[in-house]
Amino acid sequence: MIIYGTNSKLLKQAPLENQVCDNCNERQTELLIYSSYAHIFWIPLFPYKKRAIMHCSHCQKATEEKQMPVDKKDVISALKSSVPTPKYLFSGLAIIALLAAYLTYAGGVKQKQTADFFENPNIGDVYTLKDETEPTEYKYYLWKVVDVTEDSLFVSYSSFSYNGKVKKLDAEDGFYDVYYGLDRELVNEMKAKKEIVDIVRDYSESSGFNRTINYQLDSMSM
Ligand SMILES: [Zn+2]
Repeated sequence: MIIYGTNSKLLKQAPLENQVCDNCNERQTELLIYSSYAHIFWIPLFPYKKRAIMHCSHCQKATEEKQMPVDKKDVISALKSSVPTPKYLFSGLAIIALLAAYLTYAGGVKQKQTADFFENPNIGDVYTLKDETEPTEYKYYLWKVVDVTEDSLFVSYSSFSYNGKVKKLDAEDGFYDVYYGLDRELVNEMKAKKEIVDIVRDYSESSGFNRTINYQLDSMSM
């Protein structure tokens, strides 16, 4: 659940000299300047409006700007614009900007890493591939690099297809103990056509990428 809304912060409190309260006739009127701001989880996101309120500290009557005497309008608007909006009321926007910058940076690092992995394949690398011709939603399948030569990549396939990128194999899934040699030119073409969507290396044991399935047994059970 995202909690958001608006709030206001008192920026300035100033006595209004010689201002008689129209309620109690006392001269104890002060001017309050507030900044309204939007917040998300109580972190100020951005300020959007300054409000002026005339307040009698004797009878507590509060007067909104629209109801204030016309001759006070200039003083009020001058005071309003002289009060700076505190920078921290933009905290949320700053956090969002930092987060966006970080995600862009992390995305760039990840992309470069995938390109490096592709250029210099290692035994054990797990490729996620996307087959756009697959009519069902299970368009993603996996390869695991078993051997690399100058012109070929030897890979084994996982037994399942998935409906998205996976960080973890299904508990029943694993890589077959048989493998195929692929011409690296063909693999390059697949990469150019964006059929290779991800490459991971140094994965944890819990990813299941180290599980092997006996191909003979699996095909006999079908
Ligand atoms: Zn009053």
